[in-house]
Amino acid sequence: MPTLVSVNPATGEPVGSVEAVTPADIGRVVRAARAAQPAWAALGLEARAAAIKAAAADLKAAADRIGELVTLEMGKPLPEGKGEANHCADSLAEEVVEIVDALRPELLEDKRTRTELHFDALGVCAAITPWNFPVLMPLQSVLPALVAGNAVVLKPSEETPLCADLWARTLAKHLPPGVLQVVHGAGDAGRALVLDDVDLIVFTGSRATGIRIMQDAAAGLKRVILELGGKDPLVVLADADLDAAAAFAVRNSFRNAGQVCVSTERIYVHRDVERPFLDRVLERTKALKQGDGREAGVNVGPMVNARQKQVVERQLAQARSAGARVLAGGGEAPGNFVQPTVLAGVDHSMEIMREETFGPVACVMAFGSDDEAVRLANDSPYGLGAAVFGERAHAERVGRALTAGMIGINQGCGGASGTPWVGARHSGYGFHSGKAGHRQFTQVRAVSRPLATA
Ligand code: ADP
Repeated sequence: MPTLVSVNPATGEPVGSVEAVTPADIGRVVRAARAAQPAWAALGLEARAAAIKAAAADLKAAADRIGELVTLEMGKPLPEGKGEANHCADSLAEEVVEIVDALRPELLEDKRTRTELHFDALGVCAAITPWNFPVLMPLQSVLPALVAGNAVVLKPSEETPLCADLWARTLAKHLPPGVLQVVHGAGDAGRALVLDDVDLIVFTGSRATGIRIMQDAAAGLKRVILELGGKDPLVVLADADLDAAAAFAVRNSFRNAGQVCVSTERIYVHRDVERPFLDRVLERTKALKQGDGREAGVNVGPMVNARQKQVVERQLAQARSAGARVLAGGGEAPGNFVQPTVLAGVDHSMEIMREETFGPVACVMAFGSDDEAVRLANDSPYGLGAAVFGERAHAERVGRALTAGMIGINQGCGGASGTPWVGARHSGYGFHSGKAGHRQFTQVRAVSRPLATA
């Protein structure tokens, strides 16, 4: 068996290892999932939900350990690692209830016909997840698939196998054998899984990999749910509360060292307030503490690996040589670290304003009118999240003109519970969460009969 070693990006030290799969193993695992699925589906919605909910206490008991592994494997500050794992345990039961509500049969009637809509399992689901939220992303992919009656094969990112493995195995102990299995490996293992006998592929990751998965899925007309990258804009209008806007800009540019699909990647500020906004952003940026996520008070960790650091450094160097001004950070940093950096004087000829950066960089560009702000914010193939800060009605007007799937007015893009996690344009294909999202993990069947004989 090949071995996959997980490395701490803050220190370069190994954290542990897992057995990786070979292509032959994938076939065996998918066959086991296929064999287990009909009985799992036959249990019915409520019994499946009860089995999953029964794992909540064990997941809670393991949450701090899972959270420590998150920090060790991908570098986010320990309170955030533990916070992610605990949130996933605490919200499990509520999530399951929301999914059950979405998947109960629905009745439709007109003068002649009575129709029942059933939300049935699709069969075997491959869940392929990334490293930036290595517990939350598996949770959001795996739970709706399981509640719907699918068997699931989870392939976590090769950067974070240990935390995802502990989470999934803790959950799987409460389920019949074969219903939830974990396989480890890099992209080739993910690809082998996509090409095997699966019915649905749920993927969160980069646009480039999403395109490859869609191509591989096409031959079998397999269902896909792809949550891809973003290049989220923040628009700061002249009538914005600048303290609130700057606090959000710094938090959402540097959280998880910028390695968040909805992190703020482009900031457009009205030129009348550019200076005072920048002063506030710089003050907050200088107060950040970077380091090993296990150290107290650290709020910005390293890049997940050297490759990701190279991407960020290449974009920064290119922007600087094209005339961008470095207002904070931008210096040499050891190992996988990139200093929290604020750039001004950027424009859309620069790659840093067009391609996803996924690093701790805040890029600030001035605009002169609402129309210009909207045009700049929408000038991207991506369309995941967006935020607008300003007087409420004004900000809502601008927000409604944006092409993103999720738009925050004087806040980030996350919605009330029940809101789908949805990207527009190249940020997604299909989506998860919320009633409409949960239903994408199912095959809809409509059973109709004449009303007269009902
Ligand atoms: P990153 O390069 O930042 O890890 P990716 O989008 O490439 O982002 O990876 C996200 C997930 O997709 C990981 O679990 C990875 O192993 C997997 N993956 C990468 N390439 C493929 C592929 N061609 N088919 C299926 N899964 C893949």
